Amino acid sequence: DSLVRSGADDVERAAEAALRPRRMAEFVGQRVVREQLSLVLQAARGRGRAPDHVLLSGPPGLGKTTLAMIIAAELGASLRVTSGPAIQHAGDLAAVLSSLEEGEVLFLDEIHRIARPAEELLYVAMEDFRVDVMVGKGAGASAIPLALPPFTVVGATTRAGLLPAPLRDRFGFTGHLDFYATDELEQVLLRSAGLLGVPLAGAAAREIASRSRGTPRIANRLLRRVRDWAEVRGDGTLSLAAARAALEVYEVDQRGLDRLDRAVLEALCQRFGGGPVGLTTLAVAVGEEPETVETVAEPFLVREGLIGRTPRGRVALPATWEHLGLTVPRDPGT
Ligand code: ADP
Repeated sequence: DSLVRSGADDVERAAEAALRPRRMAEFVGQRVVREQLSLVLQAARGRGRAPDHVLLSGPPGLGKTTLAMIIAAELGASLRVTSGPAIQHAGDLAAVLSSLEEGEVLFLDEIHRIARPAEELLYVAMEDFRVDVMVGKGAGASAIPLALPPFTVVGATTRAGLLPAPLRDRFGFTGHLDFYATDELEQVLLRSAGLLGVPLAGAAAREIASRSRGTPRIANRLLRRVRDWAEVRGDGTLSLAAARAALEVYEVDQRGLDRLDRAVLEALCQRFGGGPVGLTTLAVAVGEEPETVETVAEPFLVREGLIGRTPRGRVALPATWEHLGLTVPRDPGT
């Protein structure tokens, strides 16, 4: 099963890479972050120096990796990619840092998951462009400081709140990516359809956009599923009817909720009477990791007013019951 899944992931990753905007001008939406970041980059280019470290936060699939690549491209710098989970020991990070070249951009995805001992090393490297390389073991061990050339860290996180303050403070610029508006996703889809060479009708683009949970990655993925449907069951054109039929097959509902989203809402209403229920309990009920529920499903459900967060746990709101076609209890969510 894991082989099958990782195979599928590779296909998805390749499909994604092909659709990635390469320059800032191609990047749709996120007007505020785009403008702020463009200023940071332009100023750095003018000074001929590496820009401040950049932190990008927001739910998965909104363009953090894409922006990191664009930052490197706009600076004419090369990009090095690693991630928090890949850095289990301080030595892993020391190896990456000590091999950086001047002006390089180091992309640290899921930076909130970096191992504690490596964090300290990262602070020093970001602040003083220095890494202390440990030689020897035990009592005879000593740290040899190694100067690093100027470089720029681009950190990405789905949960900026989880970053320790000293790490957060070392980023000169933090950009928060928000869910995209439907018309922005429509632009993403029309651009992607053009790149893929598939005939996407305007009404179909609108339909897919409105059911993509405000997320470009989901929009592009649904576009590929609609294309599958159109090629296998339709006449190859991505019409509104084809889009609706495909989204039905893939169990994406009117508001764009998928199976996991609905499982969360159903558990909340039907098993826990509308809550409040703790995140972990809710995650166990739907057979997922708490982190998946919290970072993948919940942000959009919260934004849509389909789930409420209280100090005592998650609660159903009137719209939750209505969306599931259930009767709103007299005193919902208490
Ligand atoms: P994240 O790193 O935040 O999880 P990515 O940068 O990997 O998200 O984006 C996922 C996919 O969505 C990319 O393949 C890219 O094609 C598309 N995408 C993201 N943001 C945009 C955007 N603003 N304009 C066009 N396409 C986008």
